[in-house]
Amino acid sequence: MNFVRFLCLFFLFSFTFSHETLNPHILPRPLILEYPDNTIETRLKELDEEVKLLCTSWRFAVEANNLGPWKTVPRECAEYVKDYVMGRGYRIDLERVSNEAGVYAKSVELSSDGKDAWVFDIDETLLSNLPYYQEHGYGLEIFDSMEFDKWVEKANAPAIESSLKLYEEVLGLGFKVFLLTGRSEKHRSITVDNLNNAGFQKWDKLILRSSDDHGKLATIYKSEKRSEMTEEGYRIHGNSGDQWSDLLGFSMSDRSFKVPNPMYYIP
Ligand SMILES: [Mg+2]
Repeated sequence: MNFVRFLCLFFLFSFTFSHETLNPHILPRPLILEYPDNTIETRLKELDEEVKLLCTSWRFAVEANNLGPWKTVPRECAEYVKDYVMGRGYRIDLERVSNEAGVYAKSVELSSDGKDAWVFDIDETLLSNLPYYQEHGYGLEIFDSMEFDKWVEKANAPAIESSLKLYEEVLGLGFKVFLLTGRSEKHRSITVDNLNNAGFQKWDKLILRSSDDHGKLATIYKSEKRSEMTEEGYRIHGNSGDQWSDLLGFSMSDRSFKVPNPMYYIP
């Protein structure tokens, strides 16, 4: 048996040697070349994944209200935020909030006194200012109220479709609908035009910041306005807003529905 093995090896070496002798261009070299898995391309891909993970974590902290006040989107997350708000993720998140709010709205037993109310914020809740933020780095630039006012005065902000659907559902169920916005009273008529253009045709009250309200934190201003509603006997069952300052404070609603917004923060 050993002899047979020896013969096989002998012929194999003889063949290799004679083959190489006949083909001088073939040099002894490994048949399989293994490149280390740390090419620039692989490293960039890993880095990209890491940035995505960190920015997802940052966005989660924004939505859960775990961050302190912030002025702009972190520079390394600018592209991530752009991809999110322009992509399906944002739409899916918006739809989820509206669907859940709709389920809750249907579950509320309304009384016949006409005092069951739902509060909606306007910007980034009913109306989308994405066309403005597309031109301003998706939250990477520090908020410029003068520039933003110019955009508001165009009355061109489109509806957030899932919010429009919820809005119509809530009205259809018989809730009183109050629109409570941080926009200034001087923008009342342009805001009405914009709401109408975007499909919001009916509401019970549209509350904007009067001169007395300027300078107040949004949380205080909005709480005070809700407090006035409850003093008038309204029961605020639901409140939809993209900022925690729309939802927290006092005279809070029974249920709050936080609409996603990773582009800016209002205290
Ligand atoms: Mg808003």
